Amino acid sequence: MAREDCDLAVTSQLRKMEDGTMISNNSHSSYDVVVIGAGPAGAAVAALLEPKGHRCLVVESSAFPRYHVGESLIPHTHGTFDRLGLLPRMRESDFPVKHSVCFVQSTTSEATPFYFSETIEGDRSRTWQVERSEFDEICIDNARDAGAEVRMQTRVRHVLFEGDRAVGVRLENSDGGTDDVAARVVVDASGRSTVLGKQLGLKIDVPGLNKSSIWTYYRGGHRNEGIAAGETTIFMLPCGGWFWYIPLPNDEVSVGIVADPEYLFRDGPQLETAFDREVKLCEPLRDWLSSAEQIDELRGIRKLAYLNREVVGNGWVMVGDAAGFLDPIYSSGLFLALASGELAADCIDDALKADDVSAERLGAFVDPLWRGVEVIHRLIRAFYDPDFSFGKFAKKHPEQQAAIIDCLVGDVVGKDMSSLLETLAEMSPPPPPLHESIVL
Ligand SMILES: Cc1cc2nc3c(=O)[nH]c(=O)nc-3n(C[C@H](O)[C@H](O)[C@H](O)COP(=O)(O)OP(=O)(O)OC[C@H]3O[C@@H](n4cnc5c(N)ncnc54)[C@H](O)[C@@H]3O)c2cc1C
Repeated sequence: MAREDCDLAVTSQLRKMEDGTMISNNSHSSYDVVVIGAGPAGAAVAALLEPKGHRCLVVESSAFPRYHVGESLIPHTHGTFDRLGLLPRMRESDFPVKHSVCFVQSTTSEATPFYFSETIEGDRSRTWQVERSEFDEICIDNARDAGAEVRMQTRVRHVLFEGDRAVGVRLENSDGGTDDVAARVVVDASGRSTVLGKQLGLKIDVPGLNKSSIWTYYRGGHRNEGIAAGETTIFMLPCGGWFWYIPLPNDEVSVGIVADPEYLFRDGPQLETAFDREVKLCEPLRDWLSSAEQIDELRGIRKLAYLNREVVGNGWVMVGDAAGFLDPIYSSGLFLALASGELAADCIDDALKADDVSAERLGAFVDPLWRGVEVIHRLIRAFYDPDFSFGKFAKKHPEQQAAIIDCLVGDVVGKDMSSLLETLAEMSPPPPPLHESIVL
């Protein structure tokens, strides 16, 4: 449907503002693309599609700025930021610049830093630690500036189908009223809410990957100096779990633990009991927080990982966390949200131009993307394998160091990583591949 056709569906309403002026509120009941969720994945889709002439509506249930966990970017987001025109905005922000990630053994304090400049040259080897309330607002403002319509505090109740084809969404406004909106393509970017995954019964556990997390924020904790000031530190724990330590603006730091639920909640379900006990047990982290003040509540998720058996269908696509989430150990969530948003936007553009929104056409990006996710999955499983250590692996296979850094920066999509995976299999037996659970 061309833009002119959409205009037939415009309902122009006059809205009274607080100062008494009347403004016209152009709201449409038909769009080329409706995006569920204004997080980084949804914002990327809309910002890339609108300038190509596709009318986009982004529907967001909360009011921005809103809190979100997941602050550490990885360098391979650079290309998407570039396409989105966001690099200047990121460079002028006060987000700490991240050059590296460092894995620290909590019992010996032995540290293994990985500097991204080992495999990437120049600006692309740096990225940022972002405060999500601000970062997500930058992303959605960018989509708005590109011309996308954004409706905040409006929830998508469910996706509307005709047969097996998605044809729109039912919205619930903040006053409780509902609206049906037609769309040629519905993009589920609803994050962990997984609107379509739940509606279609597609959501499944990831076999063998069962981790929980608890996290909070401090002010006045330890700060590394120089190039390591914006480094992510991972404290590896004897229980097989780990703490993240992510420096943020205003002398704040995000600190969280990921571990088996049976271990983490062995003294009961209270977040405080488990978190305080583990901080006390992790000596180097305890030292870094010794003069810090906790500035936020504790938050937790009992089951981190999930997938959907299908991530694309006729007239619909899932991107970012709405498609699946594995584990935060390599900070790949935001990268995958932005990359899937970008790749999906290109396929949607192609499908809309060809007037063919079949699953096959919309899902042309799914196979290469999920083969990249499979590489990250293999590294995640190796990390949690008690018989595997990256230190030992790096000593035995120095030729694989560059491939490991490729994974840590996110350079895994459309790349042949078979040599790394075969070598990894010698030290850590491969888990069942994700494509046994999902349709690629
Ligand atoms: C404990 C933990 C630590 C993490 N750490 C990192 C990290 O360090 N680095 C990293 O890169 N990633 C990290 N992640 C992952 C990261 O947070 C996510 O991958 C990322 O936020 C995904 O972005 P998204 O746009 O897909 O979803 P989101 O950012 O979750 O956005 C989804 C949006 O959809 C909205 N929404 C939901 N339901 C509806 C509805 N029905 N109608 C309308 N709107 C709706 C939500 O309000 C939300 O704004 C972490 C995740 C966890 C759980």
